Amino acid sequence: MSPAESAGEWEQVQRGLARVHERIRAAAERHGRAPADIRLLAVSKRQSEGKIRAAYAAGQRDFGENYAQELVGKAALLSELPGLRFHMIGHLQRNKCATLAGRVSAVHSVDSVRLARELGRRAALAPVPTAQQLLPGPELAVFIEVNLSAEPQKAGCAPTELPELMAAIGAEPALRLRGLMAIPEGEGDAEASRRAFTALAELRERHGGTAILPELSMGMSRDLEVAVECGSSWVRVGTDIFGARV
Ligand SMILES: *Cc1c(COP(=O)(O)O)cnc(C)c1O
Repeated sequence: MSPAESAGEWEQVQRGLARVHERIRAAAERHGRAPADIRLLAVSKRQSEGKIRAAYAAGQRDFGENYAQELVGKAALLSELPGLRFHMIGHLQRNKCATLAGRVSAVHSVDSVRLARELGRRAALAPVPTAQQLLPGPELAVFIEVNLSAEPQKAGCAPTELPELMAAIGAEPALRLRGLMAIPEGEGDAEASRRAFTALAELRERHGGTAILPELSMGMSRDLEVAVECGSSWVRVGTDIFGARV
């Protein structure tokens, strides 16, 4: 890439980030929330190392990836950037837990007891390094991904499985349960997003409220405003920061 192209890319990413921060701020203000209570996870899947560097230079520290292999590769390329944290947000197979442990700060997609146990075992062997800790301490922050659509083939646990999965995570000293995550079905219909986000917030209330599940990971490029309105604490935004994925 020529210097001019890479300068254009930096400008694109930094403008995208600024626009998304402004959208979060405006949505928070409309709904009486403190903007600082909503954190931005920059979803960098299938985006270049250069674009991640640009976002980091603009102050972004948390990056979301969907594929274990891609995450680990990027973590190695970017290991000299202090405080850069990767979050796993895609479907996770048990045989990838060993690869990810010690390299991720959070997993947003825990959806089965067996996965929780394996992740807990691996996280105990490879705790989160100090520079990458999202929470004080070496525990791995985890979110339970809930399938709100009742389509069995979709990722996420059924709402009825929540108590068992919460208990399984609670039994793993190397994991710290932070909250719930969901991906609404459909393609950007604001009402579908609102129904999903409201349902997730209600599930949180039914299972201990903010004392037990302090965070909600919900909202993407297309529906982050609705997510902020419904109580999101982590919005996961890719396209509107980095542009279309390659
Ligand atoms: C890709 C992805 C996002 C980001 O989506 P955009 O529409 O690019 O903002 C958020 N969450 C998950 C789980 C994703 O897979």
